[in-house]
Amino acid sequence: PEYSKDEIRQMAKDENVKFLRLMFTDLFGTIKNVEVPISQLGKLLDNKLMFDGSSIDGFVRIEESDMYLYPDLSTWMIFPWSTERGKIARVICEVYTTDGKPFEGDPRNNLIRVLGDMRKAGFTDFNIGPEPEFFLFKMDENGKPTTELNDKGSYFDMAPMDLGENCRREIVLTLEEMGFDVEAAHHEVAPGQHEIDFKYADALAAADNIQTFKLVVKTIARKYGLYATFMPKPLAGINGSGMHLNMSLFHDQGNAFFDKNGDMELSEDAFHFLGGLLKHARSFTAICNPIVNSYKRLVPGYEAPVYVAWSGSNRSPLIRVPNSRGLSTRLELRSVDPAANPYLAIAAVLEAGLDGLRNKLAPREAIDRNIYRMDAEERQENHITNLPDTLHNALKDLAADDVMRGAMGHHLYQSFIEAKNLEYNSYRTQVSEWEREQYLELY
Ligand code: GLN
Ligand code: MG
Ligand code: MG
Ligand code: MG
Repeated sequence: PEYSKDEIRQMAKDENVKFLRLMFTDLFGTIKNVEVPISQLGKLLDNKLMFDGSSIDGFVRIEESDMYLYPDLSTWMIFPWSTERGKIARVICEVYTTDGKPFEGDPRNNLIRVLGDMRKAGFTDFNIGPEPEFFLFKMDENGKPTTELNDKGSYFDMAPMDLGENCRREIVLTLEEMGFDVEAAHHEVAPGQHEIDFKYADALAAADNIQTFKLVVKTIARKYGLYATFMPKPLAGINGSGMHLNMSLFHDQGNAFFDKNGDMELSEDAFHFLGGLLKHARSFTAICNPIVNSYKRLVPGYEAPVYVAWSGSNRSPLIRVPNSRGLSTRLELRSVDPAANPYLAIAAVLEAGLDGLRNKLAPREAIDRNIYRMDAEERQENHITNLPDTLHNALKDLAADDVMRGAMGHHLYQSFIEAKNLEYNSYRTQVSEWEREQYLELY
């Protein structure tokens, strides 16, 4: 909702808000909080609240560390859980430099910039409906997560299995209290794995929602002695966690992807957008699947995509066109995982689609067969390529794609590539248990 400054002051007073939690997101998608007492509200509302940006990953060097937080008043929200000392309200902020410019290293600012490009291209909204999945693990006596799952349930299990069901129910109720429109919540295929889908929102609000969602899931899970993780593949041998993104583009006349008379009732714009997604799929993978572990999920056999292809009907490809038409005509991208920084991931897929529109890219034909049953030769005949198989290869694809680098902006791209190369090298130089088991006695 669009709140005025006065409305915010009034709500803070009426609800006895004692602390303000100012939220923004760093390069890696981690939520950062600056908590200030309510006495700072006036300063905040006047865009005068300063913080030290040098300690934030991917932000700035020490010598230019003063930054301002400009609150987005529409994100004002009072947390339903309160402390003995009164309530806590949060507001999501944009980071500004001391000369009053949006800071380029702020992923949220970057998404706002890309949304501006979308408007210049004649569209009004980019809507995102995310499907985040996560695992609930038991915690040990010290509050550390274990790898012990809390149930043996499976897809759409109905029986109230245990703690996990109750925990998920409370997560849903809390989200609803916070204004989320939860559309579905169900057990996923793997034991201990859950999915909660909330209503689509415009790109910026959707990214904000994803961040708030993760915070709520982790907070409530703790109350149940459980640890919620959005790590893409916590256990080998069972499904990993994805975060499918359903996307639709709007212009003044409605859903730009829908055309009653088009092929499959899709518009030309839909096909061009799809063409852009497919063209840049390999290079946005580093952004949408940003950690070493992401690539342990993108393997055959666990309902996660491996090949670059699309389909109107079957679920194995990277991009699917769900059945609904009219206002809910949409494309579902299935590679994204919940370790992705949602601001960066959404900016990347939007830019990929816009590139398709600008250059009228056409997708190859839909693949309506199960790609996993094709051999390499058949895939080649159908021009089906693979998604990158490691973070290292994904970074190489990203580096080679000007459009996707542009989607991040120079500052974010530089910090990202530097940090991710370090991350990959650190991983590459480890010696794992698997290696010792395989080789120690053999050689
Ligand atoms: N967990 C699967 C993935 O990794 C998705 C399963 C599903 O939603 N059908 O993407
Ligand atoms: Mg789903
Ligand atoms: Mg799912
Ligand atoms: Mg899905």
